[in-house]
Amino acid sequence: MSSLESFARDKLSGLDAAALRRRLVPTTRAVDAMAERGARRLVSFSCNDYLGLSHDPRVVAAAQQAVAAYGAGAGGSRLVTGNHPLLIAIEARLAAHKGTEAALVFGSGYLANLGITPALVGAGDLILVDALAHACMWGGARISGATTLTFRHNDVADLGRLLAEHRARHRRAMILTERVFSMDGDRAPLGDILGVAEAHDAWTLVDDAHGLGVVEGGPKAPLEMGTLSKSLGSYGGYLCASQAVVDLLTSRARSFVYTTGLPPASAAAALEALAILEVEPERGAKPLALARRFTARLGLPEAESAVVPVMVGAAQDALALSAALEARGFLVVAIRPPTVPDGTARLRVAFSAAHDAAQVDALADAILALRPA
Ligand SMILES: *Cc1c(COP(=O)(O)O)cnc(C)c1O
Repeated sequence: MSSLESFARDKLSGLDAAALRRRLVPTTRAVDAMAERGARRLVSFSCNDYLGLSHDPRVVAAAQQAVAAYGAGAGGSRLVTGNHPLLIAIEARLAAHKGTEAALVFGSGYLANLGITPALVGAGDLILVDALAHACMWGGARISGATTLTFRHNDVADLGRLLAEHRARHRRAMILTERVFSMDGDRAPLGDILGVAEAHDAWTLVDDAHGLGVVEGGPKAPLEMGTLSKSLGSYGGYLCASQAVVDLLTSRARSFVYTTGLPPASAAAALEALAILEVEPERGAKPLALARRFTARLGLPEAESAVVPVMVGAAQDALALSAALEARGFLVVAIRPPTVPDGTARLRVAFSAAHDAAQVDALADAILALRPA
């Protein structure tokens, strides 16, 4: 056996032994938060389509019209031939929604975070990252080559202490955090973070992947990034910022410059979804209301967003609970390390405007039956 084969097989058996191997399961999604796996129809609580817009007929029609008119792919980097007018339109709409001068659309949220941070800071600079920040925020920090320190999750005093200790020895500083944390569903104390940031001349990048359209309002950071792939039901990523910052990233963010532009259909779908979100704000209130109904029924702390963790602990126990729920008709995927810290495997329950209260109650009751409090 080649060294490559034996390396891969050794690593896989280690993952198997720790219940950390991940497997792809063929799954199709349908209207009304349904998912199909093989012959089974499941109510999905594992999609980030918080507003149910990925199957909205208006969004689907916008994508279909764009494919018919402009083809399937962008054809090149946006700096070459891929800068479709639909991208310019969604950028203007995103900037207006966030109240910034400008916006820049990337191929995905992951690519946005890989590109933004290294274009702004590098060796000799300082980055402070919330301990529970998403993998792509860490990825951008690592690529940048800046000194990267972790502050305790949502702990503004810890952040202030680290800045007081390290800021003076570095040229520029950035703070990376999330408006709504992806695996815990809690919110960052953004007003306090922005205050500390200003006192130490640090630039705050907020990842709003799970906030847009669901948890709106509150203070805004100078760098607001997010995704078109969750509440907007499409695909792509974005940064909202000043015109100068957007112009700089257009030239210097490598994950923007050296990759193909977003397909026109993805831009058209996101543009239509953003328009719907703005004229139907009640859609955005529903996932949070359902999440709160669920936490009340389970006796959990009140939900702060559309994401609710049901803590389990051991990875194999989380897998077993997820499998038992699937047998009862619910798709609730187990989240295991390294996505979450060791010993905190969980079910991550995501609520959508496409769910109804009866489905939420049925899920809560199934969890109570399988895992008595
Ligand atoms: C999903 C997610 C991303 C990545 O966005 P994609 O568009 O799916 O690449 C970035 N940050 C957070 C917090 C996320 O949850």
